[in-house]
Amino acid sequence: MLDKKIVDLINSQINKEFYSSFLYMDMANFYTDESLNGFANWFNIQTQEEYAHAMLFIQYLQLNGEKVVLEAIAKPTGAYKNHKAPLTEAYEHELFVTKSINDIYAVAFELKDFKTMQFLDWFVKEQAEEEQNVDELCKRYDLFGADARALYMLDQELGARVYSPPSLVV
Ligand code: MG
Repeated sequence: MLDKKIVDLINSQINKEFYSSFLYMDMANFYTDESLNGFANWFNIQTQEEYAHAMLFIQYLQLNGEKVVLEAIAKPTGAYKNHKAPLTEAYEHELFVTKSINDIYAVAFELKDFKTMQFLDWFVKEQAEEEQNVDELCKRYDLFGADARALYMLDQELGARVYSPPSLVV
């Protein structure tokens, strides 16, 4: 059994992870429409990762005999004013998700729920990586995005990314 506060927060986190998956799919679709298929590939892989995060939180609740409550997923804005905009928005979104996971961690700490803290450790590390990856992509876009040939090469590079499932086993 988990404390109700933790169950509610994890159920809310499940929705945020599915929203992240949905948001990154929207961004992938934007890049597909713009013929930047490498950027689209990068975001389609983010979509898969976020879906996997949601599934890990679902498994954690279920392994603890708790009920999963799925809520409606919000609609992404779909309005990106230029090729850089999704990158900046993705970075800001990751900061939001990090704060959300830290907030669950703080409650688990307060409740001396060491099991949940240990489970969340992987996500704390994962969020640091997510922030770093998208921040690096923003910086590289700033360096190369304005030059058509450099943008083409960056797009090729992002097109080579392959999905690898999360290392966490619940
Ligand atoms: Mg996530």
